[in-house]
Amino acid sequence: PSGAEPATKIVINLERLQQLPAEKVGPLARYAATIQSQRGDYNGKVLSIRTEDLRSLAIIYDMTPGELTEQLIDWGVLPPEARPSTEE
Ligand code: C2E
Ligand code: C2E
Ligand code: C2E
Repeated sequence: PSGAEPATKIVINLERLQQLPAEKVGPLARYAATIQSQRGDYNGKVLSIRTEDLRSLAIIYDMTPGELTEQLIDWGVLPPEARPSTEE
């Protein structure tokens, strides 16, 4: 992979997510659990989610998608590579 794309691939670290207090990550944890359930995807250490879903989650957290991405990187739920280029 060249990494040249603006691809903000959103790959959630599920193990890290489980270590964080529910009052911080509750909505995200429930969202991720719902996607796992819809896919029947329970065995992964990570979960790839839609860019659309990050937008929805940002509304829930009352942040912009960029701010939420920073927050998730800060929590260790997303890797630093997830940081978007300065679009939008
Ligand atoms: P759906 O959106 O009608 O998608 C049906 C199937 O198309 C999915 O079955 C999956 O096999 C494939 N698919 C759709 N979009 C993508 C994609 O961007 N990448 C990949 N690799 N495959 C895709 P699946 O995975 O069993 O999901 C069943 C249903 O669960 C989906 O129906 C959707 O309603 C929901 N779902 C699953 N994952 C997500 C997600 O990450 N975000 C959202 N919003 N819904 C999801
Ligand atoms: P990748 O996207 O870099 O993912 C690497 C590994 O992370 C995957 O290995 C899998 O173990 C894990 N992973 C990533 N997202 C998820 C997720 O939503 N659920 C679960 N349970 N695990 C996840 P794996 O499965 O052997 O796939 C290797 C590579 O094959 C992937 O690298 C990707 O390039 C490709 N691939 C696999 N599934 C899909 C898919 O649905 N869509 C696309 N476009 N590529 C896929
Ligand atoms: P991916 O499978 O590599 O898909 C990359 C992008 O291709 C998706 O970005 C989406 O824009 C497009 N795409 C792939 N399959 C479909 C499809 O069936 N219908 C439509 N309308 N678009 C499709 P997006 O949405 O940001 O998703 C990022 C990653 O999240 C996907 O990478 C996949 O790993 C995961 N994902 C998203 N939705 C689903 C789903 O319903 N089921 C599963 N198993 N994985 C999903």
